[in-house]
Amino acid sequence: MAAPPNGAQAPSEEDLKLYALQQKYTEEATKRLRPELDGQFVDLKNAGESRVQKLGRDLWADHAALNARELIKDGSRYKFVILGGGFGAQILAVRLIEAGLIKTREDLLIVEAGGGFGGTWYWNRYPGLHCDVESYVYLPLLEETGYVPKWKYSPGYEILEHAQRIAKKWDLDEKALFRSKITAATWDDEKSLWNLDVAESRGPGEEPRHLKIQCEYFLPAFGILATPQVPRVEGLDKFVGPMFHTARWDYSVTGGSQEDPQLTGLEGKRVGIVGTGATAVQSIPHLAKYAKELYVFQRTPSAIYERNQRPTTDEEWSKIASHPSWQLERQSNFASYTTGAPHPLPDLVNDEWTHLPGLRAQLGSPLYGLIPPTPEAITAHITRLLKLNIPCHERAHARITSIVSSPETAAALKPYYPVWCKRPCYNDEYLPTFNLRNVHLVDTNGEGISSASETSIFAAGKEFPVDVLILSTGFRTPLEGDGCPAIKMNVSITGRDNLSFTDKWTKQGATTLHGIATSSFPNLFFQNAIQNGSGANWVYSASIWIEQMVSIISAAEKQAAEKGGKRAVAEVTVAGEEGWAGVMMQHAAYFAGVGGCTPGYGNASGAFGQIPKDQAEMMKKARLAVWSFGLESYREMLEGWRKEGKLEGYEVRVVEA
Ligand code: NDP
Repeated sequence: MAAPPNGAQAPSEEDLKLYALQQKYTEEATKRLRPELDGQFVDLKNAGESRVQKLGRDLWADHAALNARELIKDGSRYKFVILGGGFGAQILAVRLIEAGLIKTREDLLIVEAGGGFGGTWYWNRYPGLHCDVESYVYLPLLEETGYVPKWKYSPGYEILEHAQRIAKKWDLDEKALFRSKITAATWDDEKSLWNLDVAESRGPGEEPRHLKIQCEYFLPAFGILATPQVPRVEGLDKFVGPMFHTARWDYSVTGGSQEDPQLTGLEGKRVGIVGTGATAVQSIPHLAKYAKELYVFQRTPSAIYERNQRPTTDEEWSKIASHPSWQLERQSNFASYTTGAPHPLPDLVNDEWTHLPGLRAQLGSPLYGLIPPTPEAITAHITRLLKLNIPCHERAHARITSIVSSPETAAALKPYYPVWCKRPCYNDEYLPTFNLRNVHLVDTNGEGISSASETSIFAAGKEFPVDVLILSTGFRTPLEGDGCPAIKMNVSITGRDNLSFTDKWTKQGATTLHGIATSSFPNLFFQNAIQNGSGANWVYSASIWIEQMVSIISAAEKQAAEKGGKRAVAEVTVAGEEGWAGVMMQHAAYFAGVGGCTPGYGNASGAFGQIPKDQAEMMKKARLAVWSFGLESYREMLEGWRKEGKLEGYEVRVVEA
C-alpha cells in the first residue's frame, strides 16, 4: 500500500495497521526467497536407488496379488484410457458409464501408478490424516453409493475405503492397471487414435513390463500434489537412522497403523520432523504422544484455525441428506460461501473455510468484477483483500497466544503472510502440543534446515541428534513447467503434425479452452487447475470439469452416430483457445495478491511473484489465471455454453472405423 501523497487525508488507524502488516509480510516473504527457487528440492518422481530417491517407493502395493491378476495384453485397444486412480479419475469413469459411453470391458482402461485406487489417499497414510474439507461435500458420489460419512471431517482411511467402495460399485477394479505409468502418448492422425507406451512395475526385483496400447480418448486425471519432494541439503543421503517422507509413512518404524496410530515404535526415541505445513500439523500431535523428544524444524509457521470435529448423528444426517441432489446443492453452497457469492440457502457447511473471507484473493469472487491491469486498480484491490485478511490474521494470532504457554514459542508460531498464501490448517490438537515438555519447536527464522549428518540435523546454528527423521516437506508445485500437464504427469505427449505438448505450452504459455483441452491434441481432456474455475474443494472443482468433458464427448459421439460414423474426434480450435486465453488474461489482475506471497508451492517457491523479464513472459504469466469470479460463476458460465448446444470452440470430425 503506497503512502498517502502530500496534502492527502491523514491515514486512518486501519490504514496504518495495514501498512505495518504489509511491510512485515513483505519482509518475511523476502527473507524466505531463495535464488534456486524450486531447485532447492529433490523430487521423488522416479524412485531410484539413492537413499533419498528410495523415499518415493510404493509401500502399499500388494505385489503378489497384483501379479496374479490377468495381464492386460500388449497391443490392446480401448475407447477411453484414464491416467490416474484418484477421485478425479473415478468420478470421470462413473460419469462416462452413466452417459452410456462404456458398454464393454474394452471401452475403459484406468492406468494408475499406485497399487490401488485412492490417489492422494492411497499414498498418504500418516497418523492423524484427515480431509480438512467437510466429508459431506468432499467424499464423491455419496448419494449414488448411499454412504454416510462417520465424521464431519473424514479420516484418511475412511476416504480410502470410500475410493474402494466406488471401485466396487462401478466395477472399476477389473478395468484398472495398477503400478503403471504412461510414459508416452502419440496421436496417430491417420487412424485417429492415441498410441500409449505404458510401463507396468511388477514389484521389487522384477523387470517392469512394457506395453503399447491404443485408445480413442486419452483422459489424464493427474491430481494436484502428487510428487513428494525433499530439501536438497547436504548430508541427507548419509543419515543412517530410519528416515521417510510423510507421503510414504513407514509404520514398520513407528509402530501402529493408520486406523490405530499407536506409535509405540517411537518410544524412547528422539524424533525430528522437518516442515510445519498441513501434513505436519496433523501428524505432530501423534508423534508427540510417543517420542521421547520431538524436534519440530519450522521454516514458516502455518495459520491454525478451529476444527470442531464431530461424529455424524442420525438426526443431522436426516437433515443433510433430506432430498435428491442434496450433495450438489451443498457443494455449490460451500463454493459460494468461500467466495462471497450469493446463495439462496444459509451457510450449510458453516466452518472456518467459510469464515475466512481473505481466501477470496485466491478462490476468486463475483463481488469485485474484473480488476483492470493498472497499478492504481491493482493496489486498491490488494488493499481491499488485505482488509479482509486482518480479522483472519488476528484470529490466528489470538488463538496461539491463548493456547501456547511459552511466550517465546507462541511468538515463533505466529504466521506473517496473508491467509491466502498458504493452505490454512484446521486443527485443535496441534497448538496444545507445544505445551508438552518433550516437544521442542526449532524455529529457523525462515531458513530451514541447513544440513544433515549420519546422526543429526543442523538448523538454526545448532546440531540436533535424532534417531528417526521424518520429512514433511511437501510436493512438487502444481505450477511446475507453468502448469503444463505433460510436465506434471511426466508423459511425453505428441499431437497432430508431430507437435510436442510441452513445446506448445512452453512457447505459447498455458493454452486451453475452459482449462480442459487444447488444439492439435484431439480427444485429449485433462483435469488441471489452470485456466478454469477452481475452489477449496478439489472434488467439486473436478466434478465440474468432468461434467463439461463428458458432455462434449457425448455430444461429439452423438454427432458421429447421426452422421453414420462409428466414432468422433473432438478438437479445440485455435480461435477457441486463443479467445479463452484472452479471457483468462483479463482475469489475471484479480490474482495480483498471490504474487507477493511468502514462497511455497502456490507460487512455485516465489518464482510466480518475480517481475517478468519482458512483455512475453508477463503475458505467459497472465495466461496462468483461473476464472476470477469463483467456481460457481465458472460452473454457470459452462452451463450456459452447454445450453447453447453449439460446441463453440470445438471441431468435431466423424471417423468410420
Ligand atoms: P507443504 O508444502 O504445505 O509443507 C511443506 C513444509 O515443509 C513447509 O512447512 C515448508 O516450509 C517445509 N520445508 C520445506 N523445505 C524445508 C527446509 N529445507 N527446511 C525446513 N522446512 C522446510 O506440504 P504439506 O504436505 O504439509 O501439505 C501440502 C498440501 O496438501 C496442503 O497445502 C494441502 O493442500 C494438502 N493437504 C490437505 C490436507 C487436507 O486435509 N485436505 C491435509 C494435508 C495436506 P515453508 O512453508 O517455508 O516452505
